[in-house]
Amino acid sequence: MPHPDALPALPALRALLGPDAAPVRRALTDEEGISLPAFVDHHVHLHLIDGERLPLGGIAAVVDLGGDPATLASRPAGALPHVTYAGAFLTTLGGYPAGREWAPPAIVRQITDPSPQVGRPGGAATAVDEQRLAGASVIKIVLHHERPLPDDAVTTIVETAHAAGLVVVAHVEGDGMTRRALDAGVDALAHTPFTERLDEGLVARAAAAQVWISTLDIHREDADAAGLARENLRAFRAAGGRVVYGTDLGNGELPLGVNPRELRALISAGCDGPALVAALTDPWPGTASLPEVRTFLRGRPPGGADDLDALADWLASASVVPTEDLIPAVDDGTDSADRKDDDD
Ligand SMILES: [Zn+2]
Repeated sequence: MPHPDALPALPALRALLGPDAAPVRRALTDEEGISLPAFVDHHVHLHLIDGERLPLGGIAAVVDLGGDPATLASRPAGALPHVTYAGAFLTTLGGYPAGREWAPPAIVRQITDPSPQVGRPGGAATAVDEQRLAGASVIKIVLHHERPLPDDAVTTIVETAHAAGLVVVAHVEGDGMTRRALDAGVDALAHTPFTERLDEGLVARAAAAQVWISTLDIHREDADAAGLARENLRAFRAAGGRVVYGTDLGNGELPLGVNPRELRALISAGCDGPALVAALTDPWPGTASLPEVRTFLRGRPPGGADDLDALADWLASASVVPTEDLIPAVDDGTDSADRKDDDD
């Protein structure tokens, strides 16, 4: 039996990490630590990284937001990380990211016909159907100010996707593009808006309608973009918006696992411990179910609510373990004792 003093008190633990945190012991190694639900990186590009290494870095599941639908569809089921995906980027003719070195033709569909009729060359509805048939859970569109998808094409894509039960995520870049995404009924933004400061009304609309994927650390060498994203995210959270952790893995040099810089950037945008954990464990887009694995964090959380950067680094030391390997370190007796203390 572990000594009771070694265990963090449950109320304090949950104040620091949220309601899903639990003290545990690993059956296989006898290590003590904290268990949380599986961590998810909600924005990656598997064709640009060695994704198989992600579970070693604490990431159990990913959302691929731009890849070859055929390759993604042929991934073996049951392997870690668990993958949900968008398939190809749907963009306009010559639009971002067509022609970029990292974006081969297999991962881009250039939409030239906004018609909802299927089976047309460059057809918006056909492109959605292609991703759906490849097993996509989400449709990725591009609203880049230089060459955005035209409104009628966006409307067709959003309506076709929603009719099929798929959510739509947009890469939004440039003035007015977040507003266009909102007007079109886009469900999520692949990046916290980083090119313009959104006004209060727009932030309130976004908070009511959208999920934002954080991707703050990709701006670490661009102070202007970093500042805009941080302040937009802070306002979005304050308005009640739902933020999920995402790094855009494959975009530059990023750690293959939980990125402590992304967590620190989220803290600088106003996140506390429970908000970090909620962002890391959010099930968006809702199709990943991972009861068989959990996050294990060795030891006890450092510092407290006043040292969140240390907490970020500790969260980044996560590993992915089988749920059956974790033995609760607080038994029911302790739980009811806690409740009794609360009543006193
Ligand atoms: Zn991306």
